[in-house]
Parts: sequence; C-alpha cells; structure tokens
Amino acid sequence: MINVNDSFRHKGLRNRLVLEIEKKGITDKGVLEAIGRVPRHLFMDNSFVHLAYQDQAFPIGQGQTISQPYTVAFQSGLLDVQPGVKVLEVGTGSGYQAAVLSEMGAEVFSIERQKRLHEKTGRLLKEIGYKNIRLFLGDGNEGLADNAPFERILVTAGAELVPSGLLVQLAIGGLMVIPVGIKSQTMVRIKRLSEEEFEQETFGDFAFVPLLKGITE
Ligand code: SAH
Repeated sequence: MINVNDSFRHKGLRNRLVLEIEKKGITDKGVLEAIGRVPRHLFMDNSFVHLAYQDQAFPIGQGQTISQPYTVAFQSGLLDVQPGVKVLEVGTGSGYQAAVLSEMGAEVFSIERQKRLHEKTGRLLKEIGYKNIRLFLGDGNEGLADNAPFERILVTAGAELVPSGLLVQLAIGGLMVIPVGIKSQTMVRIKRLSEEEFEQETFGDFAFVPLLKGITE
C-alpha cells in the first residue's frame, strides 16, 4: 500500500483500535495485523474522520455503512484467509473490508450493487494503491460466474436466505461466511464438502444493512 495521507497519529489510533478488538476476543494474528495496517480514516466521509478509529460502524453515503472494525475482524477470522486465496466479497461498500482481505494476502473480487458507491470506492482503492482488489458492479446474489469458483465467499450485507447462486460458485473445500436473517442476522459459516454436500456452523448475532436485489444508481 502506498499512501501519503497516513500520519503517526493515525497509526497510534490504529494500534489502540487493534488492542480494543483484541480485548473483545479477536485472536487471529493475521487479522489483527491487517486491521493495524489499513488506514480506515481514508475510507470514511470527511465529517467522520475523527471517529475513524473507534470500534463503530458509520454512514458512508447512499444509505450504506462502513462495518464496525470488530465485525470486519470477526468475519475475516471466520473466513480463514491464507495468502493467495481467491475471495469473493459481496457488498464492496467503502472498500474497507476488501482492503483488510487484501492486506491478509487474498486475491479479492468484490461486487457492489450501487453504481455511485462502486465508482467512488474504485477511485479510492486506486489512489491508495491496492492492486489485488478487483471491483465489479452487479447483484451479488448472482456472484461472479465468469470468475468462479471461489475458495472463500464473504457476504457483508444481511441475507434473508443463503443465495443459491453463491453456493454453486463456492469451490469444493471452500468456506462462505454470511450473516443470515431479516431484523438481525446470525453469522453463518458454510463449508462445501462435495458437489452436493454443505456443512453449516453458526456464530452469534449481528446487525447488517440488508442484502438487496438488482443494481441501482
Ligand atoms: N464491506 C463493506 C460493508 C458495506 S455495507 C465495507 O467494508 O464498507 C453492505 C454493502 O452491501 C452496501 O454497500 C450495499 O450497497 C451492498 N449490497 C447490498 N445488497 C447487495 C447486492 N445484492 N449485491 C451487491 N452489493 C450489495
């Protein structure tokens, strides 16, 4: 990552954030290091920059939010990211989660349904210098057939049901992490055991913006 707008002050705040989420139970070293490296203040609207290193979700425009760092860390940990692994993220949003996955060495494919958000985040990631992230405009329920299969799939919006279009794009042996539910969501991890068999585990309750259908301006 090449970035001129990251000061010692930001790094100090980031180290405190890492300690905070570690206290809340995140133990994965790769995840903590990645959170410690991504300049979250650059992923937020100006008016919220001073709050960038608090462990909270914030609005990013177009009625969407940048996820809480704890949630990003929790999902990233469940995803068991190894360097070089091919990951599909559904819900690019600010690009923060994609940057964390990239710092963990993943090859990231990220899809967003809101055109303006997709374009804004594309400009930002290019400016900061993240190269192993590819962004797509589309309905994440359908995944990215041209680039499938994926060894990991991470959904960052709340799904009513697990989209079947994503299950078929998960590599055998691969993992999908997806919050499932309407008002609040249960974190679900699905492992694809074979062509036909999937195994499911659950990991507590979270609150996400909804996974919608189709694309929009
Ligand atoms: N990963 C993001 C979190 C964004 S919030 C981050 O790190 O900032 C969830 C995002 O999912 C929103 O940007 C929303 O527009 C997007 N989204 C919702 N439904 C979608 C769908 N069907 N396909 C793709 N993106 C979707």
